[in-house]
Amino acid sequence: MIKIKKEKEQPYEEKDPIWFKEVTCKVCGAKHKTPRVKPSFIKVKSVDSDFHKTYEFVNPILYAITTCNECNYSARNEDYDKVTLEYHKEIIDLGLSIKNAKKNVIFKNDRNPSLDEVVNKHLLAIFFYKNFKPENPNIISGLYMHLVWLYRDAGIVEKEKEYMKYAIEYYIKTYERGTQIPEKIGIPGIMYLIGELNRRLGNYTDAVYWFSKVIKSDMIDNYPNIKNLTHEAWEKINEEKKKMKE
Ligand SMILES: [Zn+2]
Repeated sequence: MIKIKKEKEQPYEEKDPIWFKEVTCKVCGAKHKTPRVKPSFIKVKSVDSDFHKTYEFVNPILYAITTCNECNYSARNEDYDKVTLEYHKEIIDLGLSIKNAKKNVIFKNDRNPSLDEVVNKHLLAIFFYKNFKPENPNIISGLYMHLVWLYRDAGIVEKEKEYMKYAIEYYIKTYERGTQIPEKIGIPGIMYLIGELNRRLGNYTDAVYWFSKVIKSDMIDNYPNIKNLTHEAWEKINEEKKKMKE
């Protein structure tokens, strides 16, 4: 009888949260490898009032953007892999002009990216998303939120606040357009986030304006979580105002 030796130790790669995917740039055709997080390593520890998540092992936001080193076309991983650009000549022209003028920035794309690298990839992605016709403001606000959270994690408050303002601008655009709204939070969730970011910036009048819109919304009963978060945030403002009077 042949005995099959069972491996007791897990193979190295199963303990490694990062893997390298080979991708092909949809703008210039360059092939390159980019770090990605294995989904089984994404474990959320806690969630803040603006949906910022703290993770157990690895923060997937550090690996959320894929960038081509040759033309710098940058997009969220899911878009980089799937979105074809044949109807987006504006994006192809933009990437090729960067490549031809040799204005491309070269990223290391290793398993431990610096804050600078992550921020710069996000800024490039935002730049490309703003050039899509039509632009999708919900994607752009989501990327600004990544920058808000990265700077919060790094303890750089001024930058966190700066990007909150940009996120508000694009959430307002999302709200006004009323399409491509994330299903999970709906329009009430977008209004709540505009209010909550204003609250975090100390703009209480604007925050209360948006919170009252959430509560008055006829869709609010479909989003009990958003309703609770709005009441909690509004309560924090009332407490803060009381303190200021004392
Ligand atoms: Zn490229």
